[in-house]
Amino acid sequence: MLIVMKFGGTSVGSTERIMQAAQLVVDTAAKGHQVVVVTSAMSKVTDALIGAAREASTGNWDVARRQELFERHKAVADAVVGGDTARHEAVLATLHRRLDRFEKLCFGLSMVHELTPRLLDAISGTGEMLSAPLLSAAIAACGQPSQPVDATDVIVTTDQFGGAEPRMDETRVKATERLRPLLASGEVPVVTGFIASTMDGVLTTLGRGGSDYSASIVGAALDADEVWIWTDVDGVMTANPSEVPEARTLSEISYSEASELAYYGAKVLHYKTILPAFRQRIPVRILNSFNPGHAGTRVSVEGNPAAHGVKAVTSIRGVILVAISGTGMQGIPGIVAKTFDVVAAQQANVLMISQASSENNICFVLSAAEAPRVVAALRTALEFELMRGHIEEIAAEQQVAIVAAVGDRMRGAPGVAATVFGALGKAGVNVIAISQGSSERNISLVVTEADAATAVRAIHRAFELDKTA
Ligand code: ADP
Ligand code: ASP
Ligand code: MG
Repeated sequence: MLIVMKFGGTSVGSTERIMQAAQLVVDTAAKGHQVVVVTSAMSKVTDALIGAAREASTGNWDVARRQELFERHKAVADAVVGGDTARHEAVLATLHRRLDRFEKLCFGLSMVHELTPRLLDAISGTGEMLSAPLLSAAIAACGQPSQPVDATDVIVTTDQFGGAEPRMDETRVKATERLRPLLASGEVPVVTGFIASTMDGVLTTLGRGGSDYSASIVGAALDADEVWIWTDVDGVMTANPSEVPEARTLSEISYSEASELAYYGAKVLHYKTILPAFRQRIPVRILNSFNPGHAGTRVSVEGNPAAHGVKAVTSIRGVILVAISGTGMQGIPGIVAKTFDVVAAQQANVLMISQASSENNICFVLSAAEAPRVVAALRTALEFELMRGHIEEIAAEQQVAIVAAVGDRMRGAPGVAATVFGALGKAGVNVIAISQGSSERNISLVVTEADAATAVRAIHRAFELDKTA
């Protein structure tokens, strides 16, 4: 089999973790599989890079930022290949080259006092360029030939900096050219997650948490047999285990359930990860690098046909509810169309929509980053309607959260909504807005951010997800 193995930040967060990841790769290769590795930056490195870039763009470049990054990665290099002088020197030279580039970019920002999305990508992608040579060296140190590969030579994307989309045809060509010869010669390529490049070779990123997406893009481009996402929990669970300690692992879920869960806040998978795998029906597994004996979660077409109703509960914090209301909206055609034209023109991503049946209120949820510019554009575009009183108010409610109950077989399972609202009522949670996907694969609701954890736990308990997973 050809398996793409992706390691997240905590799974490569220290010397010990990198050695463990390398061992998992070597064990898999030893079973006769071909392995392509995709790696994240070491934990917290991407945050540090973004912090440094922002600071530099205000005129403050502190060389200590570079030094800290160097020390952390050098410590791994010392431990992993310290005994092999030639390899050690080669790895350190790579780290220096990449940090030189980082330093020059930050110094540039500190001169021009400006940070464009394109420059932010150029800087925030440095973490993967530092971790890939280390993980590759660790794999080689375990006796398995390996080479680090920059995803800028593998994945071709659009130029939407900060959230680029793959161009699959071009990616297929590049990935084949770059990775197949390595596989043929028995080497394990260690590809940098998160980053890619445009047709013109400009570095892009796939968005925060995007290394999962890199793995499924690479898997699809190479027609891999499976994609394995190694993380720090036992797979996709019935809720975020750091919020609901009694959450349990879902052993099988469908592609649509995995997408829906990721979209509604299950950070364990980047929300775009499933699509490239789904198109080619490549099974995806989510596994725990801290507990590799656990079978984790398998994502497949069928999911678990025996399981009914709600499978998991998720939440997204820090979102904004935009509400357009007015008794005059009733029967005035086109307000809804105009509203979503504006949203589309702003390239904003609507997380949830709800309309009151009285037609005098529509509301939708946006990320906090996108909401201010959408609201400003709406006030301009709907000026006439506001002036005429057809619309009374365009309001943006801060500090709300979306809570979603997800499951393929909620369709036709009577009483799901009643159970959700009964549980929330008992827990004293006030529901601000409701929406049910027409696929009936989820019920999502808006609550205050302060109520989100209570709501998630109440729904988890009401469906006894701690028992039935
Ligand atoms: P990685 O660095 O491996 O990409 P992430 O931090 O991006 O890992 O994602 C794993 C984390 O996702 C878990 O530690 C957990 O806190 C969180 N999480 C949120 N919802 C879920 C869920 N439903 N199942 C499992 N983990 C979840
Ligand atoms: N390193 C990137 C991030 O922290 C991508 C990833 O880890 O998936 O967002
Ligand atoms: Mg992640």
